[in-house]
Amino acid sequence: MSSLKIQDLHVRIGDKEIIRGLTLEIPKGEVHAVMGPNGSGKSTLSKAIGGHPDYTVTSGDVLLDGKSILGLAPDERARTGLFLAFQYPMEIPGVSNANFLRAALNARQPEGEEIEATEFYEHMYEEMDKLEMRREFTARAVNEGLSGGEKKRNEILQMAMLRPKYAVLDETDSGLDIDALRIVSAGVNAQRGPETGFLVITHYQRLLDYIVPDVVHVMVEGRIVRTGPKELAYELEEKGYDFIRDEIAEPVSA
Ligand code: ADP
Ligand code: MG
Repeated sequence: MSSLKIQDLHVRIGDKEIIRGLTLEIPKGEVHAVMGPNGSGKSTLSKAIGGHPDYTVTSGDVLLDGKSILGLAPDERARTGLFLAFQYPMEIPGVSNANFLRAALNARQPEGEEIEATEFYEHMYEEMDKLEMRREFTARAVNEGLSGGEKKRNEILQMAMLRPKYAVLDETDSGLDIDALRIVSAGVNAQRGPETGFLVITHYQRLLDYIVPDVVHVMVEGRIVRTGPKELAYELEEKGYDFIRDEIAEPVSA
């Protein structure tokens, strides 16, 4: 089965359980949104999928095209075709954006082979133009001193170059003004297609006007409590998250 499948996942940070039995499947070719209030565990979910060492998976599984990735190190997960864009992208002082991207691409080449420099720069400039990024940016250290919006564009540039099978985008809209939101969303939309699955995590419905999801999931307190069509996002925007909290707090009648 071509999908990114999260199966009854439980995740702890220290001794606190944050993800509490979360199940979700993103078939290749689809865009799924996860919406949820602050603190519901959305970023924890993306970190756990990426293999961050501070996030302990106590049970359940994460399957990429049917194979568990939980035993893999973060870089190995990336090589299987997983990409994560974090809510707070990491800064890597001393490593230029161009070198970082080249190293990431070369890591995927067969042993001993490298991408040709001219080809690499052509490809990078082409993708940067789409994201309206200035050329000088390539020489700057990864994410260092970049504004929130520039970091987000940089994440999308990395994704555009790496062409992952599955991409998890955590709050890609945070810190973006409306122009940047439009450009970044167009960058994501350009990569939609039968070969890619997306998990788009967001607190606000706004992003989903630009990246229209196939399916919306609502996450509360570490679980998916509701799954529906894209219209579910409007219902949430209108009523807030409390209506779902109230619903799930009600005892199930016999
Ligand atoms: P969301 O992204 O939905 O806002 P998070 O996954 O960031 O939620 O956080 C979920 C819960 O986990 C919150 O209660 C938060 O305080 C806690 N948490 C997140 N990261 C850490 C951490 N590194 N150490 C301790 N607690 C954390
Ligand atoms: Mg978050």
